[in-house]
Amino acid sequence: MSKTSSGKTAKKSANQYDCSKCPGYCCSYPLIEVGKRDIARLARRFEITYAQAESSYTRFDRTEKVRSLKQQDDKHYGRICKLFDTKKRQCTVYESRPAVCREYPDAKRCGYYEFLEFEREQQGDDKFIATTQNN
Ligand code: SF4
Ligand code: SF4
Repeated sequence: MSKTSSGKTAKKSANQYDCSKCPGYCCSYPLIEVGKRDIARLARRFEITYAQAESSYTRFDRTEKVRSLKQQDDKHYGRICKLFDTKKRQCTVYESRPAVCREYPDAKRCGYYEFLEFEREQQGDDKFIATTQNN
């Protein structure tokens, strides 16, 4: 999620993570649920029909029985949201992103961001992209 500031300065300053410095780990989650309003917003964003937005950017997950964002290959996390810019490491539809992307992580702290900061400090590289919390 190009998780840059969206004007919610007060809320962001209270958070102990900075999505604008993160390579978008949560955008690599295999299941990112979207609803009809999310798809309609994407359709408006791309000036396409609802059906086109649904088929281009979402898929139905038969196991979880929910509609989710489609993915693309990513050299760091394996797979990542199709709407993510894998070079710039940010969301391409930030202003039109789904509700779940706006809400996540819905807490003042992000476990991945803390892990990332720790790894960057250890590596002495503030651009280091940590892959998983297990390696
Ligand atoms: S829509 Fe944007 S913020 Fe949401 S998962 Fe995809 S790239 Fe990330
Ligand atoms: S993993 Fe955490 S810090 Fe990174 S983009 Fe997602 S919410 Fe923001």
